[in-house]
Parts: sequence; structure tokens; C-alpha cells
Amino acid sequence: MTISRTGIGFDSHAFSDGGTLMLGGVKFDGIPALKGHSDGDALLHAVIDALLGAAGQGDIGQLFPDTSPEIKGLSSSKMLAGALDRVRAAGFAPVHVDVVVVAERPKLAPSREKIVSSLSRALGLSGTDVSVKGKTPEGLAWFGKGGGIAVWASATLVPSR
Ligand code: MG
Repeated sequence: MTISRTGIGFDSHAFSDGGTLMLGGVKFDGIPALKGHSDGDALLHAVIDALLGAAGQGDIGQLFPDTSPEIKGLSSSKMLAGALDRVRAAGFAPVHVDVVVVAERPKLAPSREKIVSSLSRALGLSGTDVSVKGKTPEGLAWFGKGGGIAVWASATLVPSR
């Protein structure tokens, strides 16, 4: 019997005044970048924490300390690749990832397929094994005022050996 393990992840970042939003490895023209030590991709950060949690490998802050000058401006896709290396070295392989993005902007639906395909490629999964859902917070909470984006993710792993 294969014992699967599930991890959860959360991240939120505020919008900055300029730049271009990166979310799930996809660029959103016309939407400002999220603030962050790296490129601020809250979706990938939540997925990284879900993966690391499921593998019992700590969290994103331990793997990529925000005090580290090497992390400054680092692409979150590279951070995801590093986290996947750690997960695989611990003897696990991802089989499913589910994501909820809570944001007033951008509207996710038009770019959902792009994010799913970018994420499934990065994770080595098929598109049906990666799910991304967008929700508007209906004006509730700080991100509900359009000030930023909050993301929840879960990741399911199976032993790879
Ligand atoms: Mg983050």
C-alpha cells in the first residue's frame, strides 16, 4: 500500500508601487509586482511550503532565508526547483497540488490555464494533477481591499523508493 502525505502552505504579499506581477510563474502585465525579498510570487511560495511540509523538510524560510543576499531578487521558479530537489532527496515525489488564490486583482480565470501548465511543467505532473482556483475575498480582510494577494496550497506526495 502506498502511503501518501499531504502538506499545506500559505503565503501573502502586498502589492508594490511598480514592476509587473509574477504569480504561479506567469507574468501579469498591468498589475504591479508583489513586494518580497525574492520576486514575491506568493503562489509558488505557498506551493513550496506545501511540498516541504508534506516531505517533513521544514519550510521556505529555512531553505531560502530572506536574510541571504543570494535570495534577493531570486526567481521563485528557481526556489521551487530547489524545494523539489529537497523533496526528492527525502524520498518523495509529488502527485497532486491544489491551490486557492484569494485576490481582488488580477482576475485569475483568463490566466488559469497558463498557471496550471507552468506549475505542472515545473512539478513534472500532468495538468489534471494540478489545480488552481481563484476567489475574490468580497472586500474582507486586508487583501480584500486589493492591497495584495493571499494563497493557500496543498501538496500530496508519495514515496519514490
Ligand atoms: Mg513569500
